[in-house]
Amino acid sequence: MNKNNQILNYKTCQLCNNKIRIDRYDNHVSMKCEKRSRAHPFSDIFPKQEIPVWLKEISKCKELPKIFPLIDILTESCFYPASGLDASPVIIANGHVHSFIYCDYGIAKSKYYSEISFPGFNGYKKILQRSIEADEIVPENYNIHMPEIFDQFYGKEILINAQKNCDKFGDWTIWKRNDNLDDYNGPEYFSLIFLTGEGLATYLGLYKRNNISPKILSVIQPGHGFGGNWTNYLDENGIFWRTVINSEINPNFLLIGEYTWPHKEKECNYKGYNFKRKTYTFERDRFKHVNKEGNPTTLFEYIEVNGNVQVKGKNNDVRRIEEPGIKHTIYIYKKDS
Ligand SMILES: [Zn+2]
Repeated sequence: MNKNNQILNYKTCQLCNNKIRIDRYDNHVSMKCEKRSRAHPFSDIFPKQEIPVWLKEISKCKELPKIFPLIDILTESCFYPASGLDASPVIIANGHVHSFIYCDYGIAKSKYYSEISFPGFNGYKKILQRSIEADEIVPENYNIHMPEIFDQFYGKEILINAQKNCDKFGDWTIWKRNDNLDDYNGPEYFSLIFLTGEGLATYLGLYKRNNISPKILSVIQPGHGFGGNWTNYLDENGIFWRTVINSEINPNFLLIGEYTWPHKEKECNYKGYNFKRKTYTFERDRFKHVNKEGNPTTLFEYIEVNGNVQVKGKNNDVRRIEEPGIKHTIYIYKKDS
């Protein structure tokens, strides 16, 4: 091949504008080009779905609607009880569902508002936020019927104390993907609800009461026993599982994170679900903020205005320390069709 021929054998990539050798062109466009659009890494299990109309509409607004669209939020959602501030289900299933409902009764309000401001969600910017009142979620006189039988030693005391000491608040945020990113990182928008509440009570008050099942249920290291939860969410005979799964409506997918030594592949403990994939995530809470004295603190200071928490200013004495991330081994299961 002479020199002239080689020059002719180049073609300009329409995406990145680089000249690519013709014999490498197809490979470049499909595999190598930095500007190519890539599918989400979990799209084979969680196929991309259109952003729901309610979310598209809301994302165009200057503020979140006064009337809370509870049924829209619940339909096709991912429910994550005892969530902490772990981003795992958003990393894995964002784009298949666009509504994430987190609940935990062990998260302080200041910790939540700090984490949600920074680091937030990787690749996303928070565009809308408002607090949620309890009566927007359940009717004022709604009484949740909680169990009388406890499977954990001190289960009842743990439950009563945790509910008594819980820093009660609810928050709703809408997140927009950064402009330079594509579906590989997730959909353009998603919605996040965070409620301080017990997982089973929240499930009963939200989903069960409205006869809706979450599309995805995420139970990742829910922390019974030493973790301080009052019942084992992962016990197939436990009250949580019997309530959520053993009913006529149940989730299409389960994201299960256990403490056990990671298996290569693990059959589902719960009847009717098939193993799809094992994956790892790292908990977002891998940075710690400390003050001059080295005690944990938050990066921002907060004030409450009309019930909404706002950032007052940045605390300049705060240092950020990187900690080894908490690694979650997560098994993905799909319901038998
Ligand atoms: Zn290219």
